[in-house]
Formats: sequence, C-alpha cells, structure tokens
Amino acid sequence: MRLGVLAFLVLGTCSLRAWCAPLKSVYVTFPGEVIKNMTDIQLADEYLKRYGYADVLQKSKLQDVVTNPEVLKKLQRQLGLEETGSLDQSTVDAMKQPRCGVPDIRNYQTFTGDLKWNHKNVTYRILNYSPDMDASLIDDAFARAFKVWSNVTPLTFTRLFEGTADIMISFGKADHGDPYPFDGKDGLLAHAYPPGEGIQGDAHFDDDEYWTLGSGPAIKTYYGNAEGETCHFPFLFEGKSYTSCTTEGRTDGLPWCATTADYDKDKKFGFCPSELLFTFGGNSNDAPCVFPFEFLGVKYDACTKDGRTDGYRWCATTSSFDTDKKFGFCPNRDTAVIGGNSEGDPCQFPFTFLGNKYTSCTSEGRSDGKLWCATTSNYDTDKKWGFCPDKGYSLFLVAAHEFGHALGLDHSNIKDALMYPMYKYIEKFSLNRDDINGIQYLYVLYSSGPKTGPDPTSPEPQFTTSSPILPTKSTPSEKTTTVSTTTHVDPSQDACEINEFDSITEIQKELHFFKNRHYWKISKKGEREGPFLISEKWPALPAVINTVFEDQLTQKIYFFAGTYLPEKQFWVFTGNEVSGPSKIEKLGLPSSLDRVEGAMQRGNSKVLLFNGENFWRLDLKGQIIDKGYPRLTDSVFGGVPIDSHDVFLYKGSFYFCREGFYWRMNARRQVDRVGYVKYDLLKC
Ligand SMILES: [Zn+2]
Ligand SMILES: [Zn+2]
Repeated sequence: MRLGVLAFLVLGTCSLRAWCAPLKSVYVTFPGEVIKNMTDIQLADEYLKRYGYADVLQKSKLQDVVTNPEVLKKLQRQLGLEETGSLDQSTVDAMKQPRCGVPDIRNYQTFTGDLKWNHKNVTYRILNYSPDMDASLIDDAFARAFKVWSNVTPLTFTRLFEGTADIMISFGKADHGDPYPFDGKDGLLAHAYPPGEGIQGDAHFDDDEYWTLGSGPAIKTYYGNAEGETCHFPFLFEGKSYTSCTTEGRTDGLPWCATTADYDKDKKFGFCPSELLFTFGGNSNDAPCVFPFEFLGVKYDACTKDGRTDGYRWCATTSSFDTDKKFGFCPNRDTAVIGGNSEGDPCQFPFTFLGNKYTSCTSEGRSDGKLWCATTSNYDTDKKWGFCPDKGYSLFLVAAHEFGHALGLDHSNIKDALMYPMYKYIEKFSLNRDDINGIQYLYVLYSSGPKTGPDPTSPEPQFTTSSPILPTKSTPSEKTTTVSTTTHVDPSQDACEINEFDSITEIQKELHFFKNRHYWKISKKGEREGPFLISEKWPALPAVINTVFEDQLTQKIYFFAGTYLPEKQFWVFTGNEVSGPSKIEKLGLPSSLDRVEGAMQRGNSKVLLFNGENFWRLDLKGQIIDKGYPRLTDSVFGGVPIDSHDVFLYKGSFYFCREGFYWRMNARRQVDRVGYVKYDLLKC
C-alpha cells in the first residue's frame, strides 16, 4: 500500500477540503469481510446466478450471462427497472441494494409438495435470538409479522417452544447449516423456504445485519427506575449530551442511559444491554458473564467466539467453563460495531488509518461508501475494525416478507408490495393489494377442505368459496331484497342475522346500518343500538335506501333511493327539514343508473358516488357532477370488488362491502384488511 500512503500524503497537504474530496480512491481489503470489492461484471454475474436468472441459460460462461440482453431484461422487469437489456448504472445500483435471499426465479423442482400449507393452524418456533435486540422485542416483531398475514387469511399462527414447528425461525451468519450461506453485512438479509416438510417453511435471518425496528437502535433498558423503557438519545447528563449508552458516572463499568431527554432534571434511567448485566440463550438462565473465566485452560477477560463455528460471542457465567460448563451468549452493546472482525467492541476514537487520524466513522478505504471505524487506536498495526451502527434493518418488515415465502408466496415485481425482493423501510406498514391477492389466492380462493360456517365466537375473517378477490359482476336483478310491509319495529329483528345492508355510513361519528325501513347504529361507546325506524328520524323516505352520506362540512344528510321506484331520487335533510325528492339527473347522473351503491366524501365539498365499475365525483357546492366522470372504480381503487354494494368512509379508511365481507383500504389506497362486516363493524 505504498501508493495509498502517498495518495494520503498528497491529501494531507490540501488546505481546501472540497478540493481533496474527489481524490478519494484508495481502497483496501478489510480482513474478515465476506464480500470483497468486486467489479460490476463480477457483481452482476454473481447476482444473476444467485437469484435464479442465470438458470435460464444452460451453458454459462461469465460473459454469456452478464451480456445476455434477455437475462438482463428479465432482471430489469422483476426489479421494475427500465428494460434496456444492458448492464446500465441503474441496474448495477439496484444489484447493490439490500434484499431477500430467495431467488426471484425459483426452480420448483427443488422443492416437494404443494408449496402451501394444507392446514390453517400454522405453528412456528424461534430457535435462537440475535444479540442486537432484546428477546422480547424480537418475539414481538415476529408475532406482528405473522399477524400481517393472519389479518387477511383464515390462517392462525401458534408459537411452539419445543419440538418441530412448521416454520422454524433462526438467526445465523455466513454458513449457517444450509446450502445458501449469508454474505456479511447488507446485501442479502434473510431467506425462507416454501411450505413443506423439514427445512421447507423455515426462515433464516442474517445476523451480520444490524437488526432493529428500522429507525436506529431501539435500546430497551433493564433495572434502574424507568421500568424497561427505551433509551432517549440524545440525553443530557451533567450538562453533556450523549447519543449512546455511557459508563460515565459509574465505577462498575455498566453502561446506562436516560429514558428522557434530560437526566439532570428527570433522573429517569435504566441499564443498557451488556454482558456484565445478563447473557441470553446458553444454559445459565440469563446470568451475567464472569470475568475472567477459564476455557480450555485459557483465561478470558471478554466475550469470545473461540470454540464456536457460528460466529456468536459467548462467555462463561462462572469463573471456569472447564469445570462448570455454564455459559450464555453476549448481548451486543449499542456502541458495538457491526460485522468486521471485532464484533462486540466499540469504535476507538481517534484511530489511525493509513497514517491519518480519524475522530469519527469514515468511509475512506471503501468503494461502497459504508461507514466504518477501527476498534483499537491504530488500524494500520492492529487491523481491527467494524461497521458503525446505523439505522439497521426492521426485523418486523423483513420477517413479514420472509413469512410470505414460508406461506408459499414468490417475489412480486410491484415496488410497493411487501413481496418485492428489495428492502425498504416504511414506518406505517400495510399490505399491498398484490400481496393480499397472492396470499388469498393460496388460502382463500382455492382453500381446500370442508367449508364450515363462521364461528360466532371467533371474529377471524373466513371466506366463502365464491371469489372475494376476483369478483364476478352481478346484475342488480339478482338481488333478492324485498320491501318490508310491516310498519312497526319487530324487536326480534336482529342486525346480526343480516348479511347485506342497504347502506352503511357514518353520521355524527356513529356508524349507521340501514336495512328495509330500519337502521342500527354503533354508539360512540362502541355498543350496537337499534333497530330504529328510519321514518321516525327521517320521514318521507322510501323503505329501501340505496345510499346515505353526511356532508361533513354542513352536516346535511343525503339519501339516495329508487330501487323499486320508477325514478332514482335523492333527498337532503338539514336537521329535521327535508328537501326533495329530486331526480338524480339533476346532479348530472345518468337516468339509466339503476342505483347509487355507495358514497365517500373527499375533502370538504366533494363526494364520490359509486355504482359497480363506475364512480362519479359530486361537487356539493355546485350540486353537480364534476367533468371527467364517471371514472373506472378499478383504475383508482384497485383490489376491491367492483360489485361492492356498500361503499363508505369510516375512521379515515375506505370500505367496500360485498356480501358479508368488507375490504378496507387505507389513504394510500392499499387494502390493509379484509374482514366480516358482522363481527368487526357491527360488533356481533
Ligand atoms: Zn423474498
Ligand atoms: Zn438459510
């Protein structure tokens, strides 16, 4: 590295930093790194082979795969890139992004069976833990990841603590006991196998990654007086600001943090994860390390990887492992570097690298721009290093993706889908309709076994065999609604027996359900009230209402009806005063329209009116349909049944109902839940 030193000497004489920056081009090979600096061609070759693209070519010389435009186009299509068929910069950049290790093009001959579970009560077991996060946070992340899928399927997930579960979950590094080794920090994050016996269904997480909740270290505290709250960074202690746990102010070497912004004022604190406080796994019941301890006759003053091939740090929890055989794994301190060759140690500042002194993490010497530091004061002599802690990867998001594979899903080429192969942190997560369609295709649409009716004690969504995701158009004449001829309320009339309501809408923050002269509502306390006679509150309306909505600005209530009348009409109630009926043509709706099936307000003075595959936008001020309508429901609200009979807005989500089910869509127009109207909305 003679050249390197010279280059840095030149750098050292620069007086203007901006002038020096472009000269940075000295790359070194860091010891212990799994991925070496590679040329773009080498990178592409490895990528195409690893993720299944090269399999399409029988013979494959290096150049053949990388320069084959068909192979590259296939990759570009999968990743949602422009299909140029050449190894352009955006393709190279995409190949450097963190992602799932499951091949995009899967060779199904490798695996046996149906590639879906043939039972609904799927089991899982967590075999080990990452030292990056508290076990309770890891348990919770996995449980939430399973819930993502149980929310939209009839599947349930039960955790086992021993024996063989369908989905065995483990963390591992590099070679971890299957033919698909991990690759160190970043790059490949995790992989999972499709459903089946043995390793199939299992999910593996690369523990050279920094596992967090996705937005930086989530440090749960222990003991102290903050009852396990997470650290607050930065925090003030004796007037100084801290961005990581510290041992300042203590003589026992235990790292601690404040759980509020100002320790001096609030005095709230807890201890941070440390091997001096506890271990995990092993056979010592979480007892702390005892230093020094003896192992094979050698004394150890710190956690070690000696004696293990899996790369995990451990310690004895008595002074002699040789006699007592008691041990546990060491949790990572928040200041510890990630990967490299000195995991568990913190950065040492300042440190010397190629003769220069560094007082903070640097990307010097690396072609990938990643920040690293030395863990001794001199990298040049000791060669001890690791990556600096970053935001990490959300274990929840990666697990939710991997569990999708463990349930039988493949990669999606839709960028917003959970099953897209690349990692992206999203704070407020919800499934994309592509994910929902995929999983429901496997477990709802073609679910096998005898059908049973919904169990009233279990509000888990269940589904009929008729397709809830690929709705068939039903003509209005198929409807079997009959007009009730009784005028008094039948107290035995039970809303929970009704499968399909005439209209559902929110009025004065209470959800109202209309059916044949009657309505029920869910009070602000969440209790079901009714039935009430519609005519008692809103006189002069026909028995069957098609759609009701409340203008959120004026509190005027609009009723649309006319299914059994020669003309389709609407009424507007302002308090007790009614205007109407008026023909819907007055608003600019076509006279041929058989009914308005649903309505949702958008902004202050616009309301969308739905009928099957079309919807219109009504301007409430002008009382006229806006230009450019109708538009196709499917083009704007993709993923919901286009023959929904009730459409409404409730607590900020859009609801589309068909038969006894609803599809809930969030503001980003992603279906985030499919469920029972009866149990979830009507509280039966
Ligand atoms: Zn994947
Ligand atoms: Zn694996």
